[in-house]
Amino acid sequence: MKIVYSDKHAVHDPQTFFVRGVKQRSAEQPERAIRLLAAAQGAGHEVIAAKVHGMGPAAAVHTPDYLDFLQIAALEWVKLANASAEVVPNVHPARYPATYPKALAGRAGWHQVDLACPIGPGTWEAALAASEVATTAADLVLGGAREAYALCRPPGHHAYADMAGGFCFLNNTAVAAQRLRGRHPRVAILDVDVHHGNGTQGIFYERPDVLTVSIHADPAHYYPYYWGHAHEVGAGAGQGFNLNLPLPVGSGDEPWLAAGEAALTRIGQFAPEALVIALGLDASESDPLQGLKVTGAGFHSMARKIATLGLPTVLVQEGGYLSDDLGRNLVQFLSGFDAGR
Ligand code: ZN
Repeated sequence: MKIVYSDKHAVHDPQTFFVRGVKQRSAEQPERAIRLLAAAQGAGHEVIAAKVHGMGPAAAVHTPDYLDFLQIAALEWVKLANASAEVVPNVHPARYPATYPKALAGRAGWHQVDLACPIGPGTWEAALAASEVATTAADLVLGGAREAYALCRPPGHHAYADMAGGFCFLNNTAVAAQRLRGRHPRVAILDVDVHHGNGTQGIFYERPDVLTVSIHADPAHYYPYYWGHAHEVGAGAGQGFNLNLPLPVGSGDEPWLAAGEAALTRIGQFAPEALVIALGLDASESDPLQGLKVTGAGFHSMARKIATLGLPTVLVQEGGYLSDDLGRNLVQFLSGFDAGR
């Protein structure tokens, strides 16, 4: 399988993350992508450099205000008195009707939903490069490749059209799906990250042309809490085109693969011409986040099942944090996918 990569991710190295009020270094570190790349190369997959596409593909799923904010935020923030090196908001408009503010601190709270998406000096460059990785992989598939894997970092599936969150800034999965929509009338997204793909759901929530399906730890007890529940089925023209399959926290291979069957049944009914897999590896039993307990064999089986759909497929890297199994789980998924073809 062709692997698309850009080493520009490394300029984004977020330092701020809060767990139960305690500041820690973010788990979303450059080492993640370095290990994933080494593992994929070690398994014999061919690596291709991402092409330059600029902002166009990201602008197809994100708003102008948000893209402007991401570009200027870190540069303008450090000019404020006593500012930190990373943009971290301390106020949010929350759930009530609100007015878009002029002040940077207000814009930060508008566009950053949590404390897990600090914007540093390299964030924009890395996020843009990740969207170009996803676009390049989508173009390979549009050009006739049966599948391609976009090794994106930072991840993207928690990013809404105008809001960062959960380590994510530009929604690489949505960028790839929208790119595929340029050719195909119906595109499906299957998100197997341990976290609900709330940003992706949000971007396509009112559209019937992109089916969004997510398998994840139950948000009643797990991030992102407010989204990912089974009753969220889409709205307006998109009603019935979003499927959430939450699992009890700590679930292992058997329920995870059963949810995979349910997902594939729905995708089969939708009859898409192309598929995007939001490939989080943080459902692993070895992942430090400990939301689900999927084994290497489980990743292999899931990928094999998905591949039997026979669809042109873009695999987009989402979460998955440092453990000895991170690279091995990627190799298991990719080899399972190849075996199912
Ligand atoms: Zn995740």
